[in-house]
Amino acid sequence: MIKVADMHKWYGSFHVLKGLNLDVKEGERIVICGPSGSGKSTFIRCINRLEEHQRGQIIVDDVELTDDVKQIDTVRKEVGMVFQHFNLFPHLTVLENCCLAPLWVRKVPKREALATAMEYLERVKIPEQADKYPGQLSGGQQQRVAIARALCMKPKIMLFDEPTSALDPEMIKEVLDVMIELAGSGMTMICVTHEMGFAKTVADRVIFMDQGEIVELAPPGEFFSNPKEARTQQFLNQIL
Ligand code: ATP
Ligand code: MG
Repeated sequence: MIKVADMHKWYGSFHVLKGLNLDVKEGERIVICGPSGSGKSTFIRCINRLEEHQRGQIIVDDVELTDDVKQIDTVRKEVGMVFQHFNLFPHLTVLENCCLAPLWVRKVPKREALATAMEYLERVKIPEQADKYPGQLSGGQQQRVAIARALCMKPKIMLFDEPTSALDPEMIKEVLDVMIELAGSGMTMICVTHEMGFAKTVADRVIFMDQGEIVELAPPGEFFSNPKEARTQQFLNQIL
């Protein structure tokens, strides 16, 4: 589903990603953790070409990411992304937020877009908020809208960048529950998160990144109980 091979990225002269390799199979769930500035966001932003890489290969759903704008559009339709700060359009209602991309990018008929939006708002358990504006919702509700909005494009892959780290503790669970449900439905997911409980129950593999490298990549059982690298151990000691 996703293949990353010896991928490098620079910001100017700063070498931010240093030869990443990763193969993600359909339906697989990957959790990425690591210290601030290690390149986690940059990595997943490269996967839907919000950032471009300079060396190596990224192939998403059989499409290689290059400068070709058409291919980038194709890939973006298949890859949903959820950000730390929700990034909803404040001047649009919840329902309008959810319908925008299906209407304008996928050219779905309006009636169908509305029905799909309501279906996903029900799935994230906030159908009653459909006509409100994002500013009228709690952080947890806004993030569930952001997840529903991404799902309305019927993506094959979902990327999450610290979706719960801007939330108050009591709202974290409601968002994680939605993500757990999504994982159970067979969605291919890459989640940057420090919610290690989520990683233990949901992830097929956990990645630890440091200084632009994948330092450790292992199934959660192994990753948490028997990490091979000292840097991973040190990081886990700090956050667990
Ligand atoms: P955090 O846990 O704080 O979100 P991260 O692992 O997601 O960190 P990135 O945001 O990917 O880290 O940043 C990796 C490095 O690249 C950092 O040193 C950061 O300062 C730098 N960086 C990020 N974005 C840019 C940019 N647009 N231009 C230049 N440098 C950048
Ligand atoms: Mg980040």
